[in-house]
Amino acid sequence: MSPKKQEYVVGIDLGGTKIYAAVVDHKGRILGIGRKRTKAELGFETTVQRMAICVKEAAAEADVNLDEVIAVGVGSPGPLDLKRGMIIETPNLGWKDAPLKASLKALLKRPVAIDNDGNVGLLGEYAYGAGHGCRDMVGLFIGTGIGGGVIINGKLLHGFNENAGELGHMILNPEGPMCGCGTRGCLEAFASRLAIEREIRAAVAGGAAAAIFDNVEKPDAPLRSKRLSEAFAAGDAAVVAAVEKSARYVGYGVASLLNIFNPEVVVIGGGVVEAIGEPYVRLVEQTASQNVFKIALRNVRIVAAELKDDSAVLGAAMLAWQKAYK
Ligand SMILES: [Zn+2]
Repeated sequence: MSPKKQEYVVGIDLGGTKIYAAVVDHKGRILGIGRKRTKAELGFETTVQRMAICVKEAAAEADVNLDEVIAVGVGSPGPLDLKRGMIIETPNLGWKDAPLKASLKALLKRPVAIDNDGNVGLLGEYAYGAGHGCRDMVGLFIGTGIGGGVIINGKLLHGFNENAGELGHMILNPEGPMCGCGTRGCLEAFASRLAIEREIRAAVAGGAAAAIFDNVEKPDAPLRSKRLSEAFAAGDAAVVAAVEKSARYVGYGVASLLNIFNPEVVVIGGGVVEAIGEPYVRLVEQTASQNVFKIALRNVRIVAAELKDDSAVLGAAMLAWQKAYK
C-alpha cells in the first residue's frame, strides 16, 4: 500500500525551545504549519496541549480536516521507550516518564508514532533531502548537543533497547572534556556549539584577540549561531580555530562511522552547520578521508543537510506514513 492523494499526515518537531508542526501531503510537501514555544517548564501536559494546538493551526492553514490526517509523527528529545511511547527522561525538557504517545493520541484522536529527534531528522533527510534515493546513510546534527542516527538498508537502526544512534556520544578521547551525559571525551564534548563557545572563551581568556565579543551588549550571553556565522565569515582567528577544531573532531567521528557502517551518504546538519555552511562540511570530509579505509570512502557522499529547519517535521511525517502503512 502507498499513500493516497487525499490523505495527509502531520509531523511534529518537539524541541527544547519550540514546537513546530506541519501538515504534509503524499509528496512530502508542507501544506500548513503551526509553531509555539515549548514552555516545558509549565509541565508535560501543558506542552502536549500546545502541540495539539499547533497541529490544529497547521491543519487550518492547510485547509485540511483532522479526519483527513491518517497519522501523526513526533520527533522528541530522548531517551525514549518506543514500545510504551514514553519519554523516559529528558534533561533538556526536565520531564521523566512522560506518556507522549498516549497523551497526544487522546487529544487528537489520531494514531501517533514517536521516535527520537536525531533519528527523525535523519529520516527526513533520507526521505526528502540529502539522502534521497540511497539505502545506507548516517547523519550527525551539530547543535547545542550532537544528535544522529543510522539507516541501514532503508531502515532506522534502533538496537536491542531502542537506543541506538547516539552518535554524539561516541568516545573519542577518554581523557577529554566532560560531556553532558556524564562521561568524558564524547564527540559532543569536543564539537557541539557549546564546545565551540567554550574554546572561543578559553582563547579570549588566554589573551587571544576576538572581535566576536566586541560591541556586544551582553558578551556573557550564550553565543548564537548568527554571531558565530558572522565572526567566522569575518575571519575572527579564535572563532575560525574553534570552528575548525569542531569540524575536525566531527571528521574523526565520521571516519569511524564510515569504517563501521560503510554508508553511501553521510549527512551533516544542525545549527552549527547551517551557520558555517560548506567550509565546515569540506573540513569534516577532509579529516574523515585522511583517517579511514579507502574502500569505505569509495563513491561515498559527505554532504550538508538540505532541509534545514524542516528535516525533523518531514522525518516525523515519514514516521507517520510508516505508521499508517506498515
Ligand atoms: Zn556524552
